[in-house]
Amino acid sequence: MAKLIDWIRTASTRILDPEREERIAKLAETLRKELIAAGAAFDLEQATRKLDVAPRDVSLVAEQVFEYALRHAWRDRKITTKEQVGLRSVAQRLRIDDLRAAEIQQAMGRRVFEACLAHAISDGVLTSAELKSLEGVSAGVGISVRNLVIQYFSREGEGFLRGVFASMTHEGTIDEEQWASLLRAADGLGFTEGELQNLIRPQAERFVEHVLADAKADEYLDDKEIATLRWLLGKLELTPPFRTYVEEEVRELQVITNIKQGRLPSIEARGVTLRAGEIVHMQVGAGYYHTRHLKSGPRTDTHYGVATITDSRFIFSSETKSLEMNHHKIIDIIPLSGTIQIRTGGRGAGNYDFGPNNAMAALIYESAVAKANQTLVEKRKTAPRRHIPRDVRQRVWQKYGGVCADCGANQYLEFDHIVPVAKGGGSSEANIQLLCRACNLKKSDHV
Ligand SMILES: [Zn+2]
Repeated sequence: MAKLIDWIRTASTRILDPEREERIAKLAETLRKELIAAGAAFDLEQATRKLDVAPRDVSLVAEQVFEYALRHAWRDRKITTKEQVGLRSVAQRLRIDDLRAAEIQQAMGRRVFEACLAHAISDGVLTSAELKSLEGVSAGVGISVRNLVIQYFSREGEGFLRGVFASMTHEGTIDEEQWASLLRAADGLGFTEGELQNLIRPQAERFVEHVLADAKADEYLDDKEIATLRWLLGKLELTPPFRTYVEEEVRELQVITNIKQGRLPSIEARGVTLRAGEIVHMQVGAGYYHTRHLKSGPRTDTHYGVATITDSRFIFSSETKSLEMNHHKIIDIIPLSGTIQIRTGGRGAGNYDFGPNNAMAALIYESAVAKANQTLVEKRKTAPRRHIPRDVRQRVWQKYGGVCADCGANQYLEFDHIVPVAKGGGSSEANIQLLCRACNLKKSDHV
């Protein structure tokens, strides 16, 4: 029981003690001064008791003091043998065992190396002095420059690429210089472009997927996104299947963007008599589930035929039933899983199944109706309710690590409102998740 209470107390302070970090930093600063003053006579137990450090904080405070000593030693970007000896003695006095001390030392060395590397890359030239200091850090860490670079890109690659694209101007042109400087710096470190491409490929593919998911969130590809994706596809050596996937997604997004903006396709139609000047946007095979409410209960007949969507009408023709609906009479078009429900006051209401063309048919039909009723502009005005702010998307992407929340897939990702907008769900971080298309479709079946 005492143990349980102790555990609860520790757990609750961990959550309820936001000032802990600050307190520990202050204690570490005092302890560091004690260490310097006492020298070899320093006694951790005595010193921490004097400072009234909580037992559970002692090792944390000690490690911070050690980190400070490390930072101090790394100031000139190298660690001499004399400094090594000094650090070992500091670790011993702070009661940090050899293994843990080595761990902290290596982590710090990596950070120093990465700061050096980022600096070296950022100005585009890797001077011999910079290379020398990278080599010095590498010797201090005990890991080769090459391996440290590999570790850097496997961890920070996406962030690095993001930095490159953050420099894009609003006209959608990309700062080529950053890419060129990366290649030059990599060359200076002994990496060919091919090796660098291999190194950043996983991160690059994550980055491309992120740009795609962002574009899908708006259901609209803007010029900047098109430029970014083209540039990425042009510069990065992505795996062929991934490249094909991205190209297909971009094509589809461009089609959707055009339709949403009211730029509808114009096609030749067969089997329908058109009015003068009438434009056909789509013609596909479709099933019509016609439900009648009889005295004995509802009865649904299915008719198979052809649906034609023009700029003013929806025409359904089959051997068993034919009808047409004027765009002005349409109350709502609701995409369901597998069918589209058309609500109208007159004939033709019910569910239609366009098979694999369901999503496209709904999109074109909605846009045609909106255009005919001149509600396209109004619709876009209401869109902000669905809109997910960029910073929210960024945090959600981080939170889910760029994979589907349900199945872990890392392609076809979409930002999803956990509680749908139609049911009052907002666009705050808590209500947004990352789902792949398949899981999102599955979810909309149940909502
Ligand atoms: Zn999934």
